[in-house]
Amino acid sequence: MFALLLAAASANSNDFTICADRPSKANGACTVPAGHWQLEVSGPDWSRMKNDGVRIDTTSVGSTLGKLGLDVASDVEIGFAPYIHVTTRVDGASAFVSIMEGCSKYCSFCVVPYTRGEEMSRPFDDVLTEIADLADQGVREITLLGQNVNAYRGPLATDRADGQTADLAMLLEYAADVPGVERLRFTTSHPKEMSARLIDAFATNDKLVSHLHLPVQSGSDRVLAAMKRGYTALEYKSTIRRLRAARPDLSLTSDFIVGFPGETDADFDATLRLVEAIRFDGAFSFAYSPRPGTPAAELSGQIDADVRQARLVRLQTLLDAQYRNYSEAMVGTRQRVLVTGPAVKNPHELAARTDNNRVVNFAGDAASIDHYVDVDITAALPHSLRGQLTAA
Ligand code: SF4
Repeated sequence: MFALLLAAASANSNDFTICADRPSKANGACTVPAGHWQLEVSGPDWSRMKNDGVRIDTTSVGSTLGKLGLDVASDVEIGFAPYIHVTTRVDGASAFVSIMEGCSKYCSFCVVPYTRGEEMSRPFDDVLTEIADLADQGVREITLLGQNVNAYRGPLATDRADGQTADLAMLLEYAADVPGVERLRFTTSHPKEMSARLIDAFATNDKLVSHLHLPVQSGSDRVLAAMKRGYTALEYKSTIRRLRAARPDLSLTSDFIVGFPGETDADFDATLRLVEAIRFDGAFSFAYSPRPGTPAAELSGQIDADVRQARLVRLQTLLDAQYRNYSEAMVGTRQRVLVTGPAVKNPHELAARTDNNRVVNFAGDAASIDHYVDVDITAALPHSLRGQLTAA
């Protein structure tokens, strides 16, 4: 039985979507988005993909794991396909590199550990070689990916340290030394895995962006325990305090679930208080919806849809205000931005991304696309910033 695991970054976030979670008759079909992909592949059955119109650059794939590039001119739906693990997506001067798969945290609301299995890290040297190859191709910004990316424990080559593993801090340190790499990101992180070494990387690794997405989910200890998140609100705040000590301008985004089974008004108020205390630069927030097969779906105390929705609106109002405040505070600052292409609304202008993933539009020369430039932020709009090129 075959299936396709395909991770695709959405245009506006570091969110990842998966076409099919596990080999099954039900989820074999999958749309491969247009783009250039680099893949790790196992399984010999390439003919089905070819028959479905996917052009494969390199066919050096046997029954064991191989690597290949994949060019997809326009979105194409394929049927059953070989087991494919997407390791890299290249998007101009940016690339997304998967460094680990799966999750061993077993949050009570989440299907990932059951559908993708336990945490499994790619070998350290494989990842570094891939990053060096990408930098040779002109990639300047690398985002390291994993469901639980900061749980990365990549095996080191046996000639270096038999049985030893590298953590994410070590991988970031080596990746920062790869010639051509200018900016590093990683997502998605778990608060429990924010080790002292990783927090210290924000103080010592100047290629690491001043942004971190760190899902908290709730500000109530009772709800966090029911979610089996493995930390308290105070521990989360303590992690944030240490991160901000290491990198004072760090922008923080998060994930929230409201209306988890048993969540009281007081629990929800605790979430609002945590948001007020931390001040986030953005967040993905959702009303709880049960996932079949997860322990939370069986919990008593499921919350009425109206209550869940009302809480979500209150939370999002607060988060939106914090997002606007953050944008307004960026006005007057100088930002090093990666130019991604023409601006969407005015193709005579350029669009670029800041460390904290804000889009900045400004007048500039198309020759700077896929390069970093400095811009002075001149205005904050609801969903973007305006800037002007910093005078040389
Ligand atoms: S929510 Fe995240 S950390 Fe928790 S089980 Fe799912 S993938 Fe793992």
